[in-house]
Order: sequence, then C-alpha cells, then structure tokens
Amino acid sequence: MSCIFCRIAAAEIPAEIIAQDDHTVAFLDISPLADGHAVVIPRRHVARLEDIPPAEVDALFRTVATLAGPVRRVVGAAGSTIGINNGDATGQTIPHVHVHIVPRWPGDGAGSVHTIFRAGTRRPVAEVGKEIRKALA
Ligand code: AMP
Ligand code: ZN
Repeated sequence: MSCIFCRIAAAEIPAEIIAQDDHTVAFLDISPLADGHAVVIPRRHVARLEDIPPAEVDALFRTVATLAGPVRRVVGAAGSTIGINNGDATGQTIPHVHVHIVPRWPGDGAGSVHTIFRAGTRRPVAEVGKEIRKALA
C-alpha cells in the first residue's frame, strides 16, 4: 500500500488522529496552514469526491461538520475555510480524497476561496446551468 492516507487509515503510520469511524478518519495536517488544520478522509482510496459511494459521502461530511466547531473552538478561531483539492489539476498532492478544515482569524492574511481563482468565465451562466441540469436528469 503506497498511499500515505491509506496507511494512516490502516494505522500503519502514525498521525495525530482526532476522530475516526467505520468510513472516515480525521487527523491533523503534518504541515499545518494554521493551528488546528485538520484533514478528514474516507477510509476508501478514491481520488475524487464524485467517486465515493453516497453513504460514504454522507459519513465524510458528517465528520467534517462534527469537527468544524470543536476544531475552531480549541484554537480560538473565528471561522474555518473548508475545502477539497478535487483531482490533480487542482493541486491535489495526495490522490486520496481529503477535506481540509483550516481555522481562520480576522486579519490572518489568507483570502477567501474566491482569491485562488484568476481565470474568468467563457460561457454564460444560464447555458452552463441548463447543461448541468440535463446531465443530472
Ligand atoms: P493536498 O494539497 O490537498 O493534496 O493536501 C495534502 C495535505 O496532506 C497537505 O496539507 C500535507 O501537509 C498533508 N500531509 C501529507 N502527508 C501527511 C501525513 N503523513 N500526515 C498528515 N498530513 C499529511
Ligand atoms: Zn489512499
């Protein structure tokens, strides 16, 4: 097993685990962007969120929601930025889905999710919306 996160889930390598259940494991990031920076993973090795079976997606986000408050309060943060680098084109470095929970403070110098995007749009919103609704049908 070469995936670091699979190895953490299997307790083959150490991590600062903060919560775990049948489908998910949560631990502190080894190179934290802020105090309390946590990572939540599904036990299943899957690179992208959309490839996780629905019941396990439910479990993953339940764990994220359960942890968001305690993680924020323990480090005295005002909020948290919660995000996924979903696929290697996004800068994802470990191809095993992981949800970052990064505590935030006013004036901490980090921006909002919007600040990571420079590219503008090329297509009208209504056209894209129509196609997505069709793809879902
Ligand atoms: P990403 O860039 O979204 O793929 O994030 C991967 C994250 O995993 C980074 O924030 C790393 O610091 C973190 N990471 C890598 N190896 C470990 C490890 N052994 N234990 C905890 N976190 C790790
Ligand atoms: Zn894995």
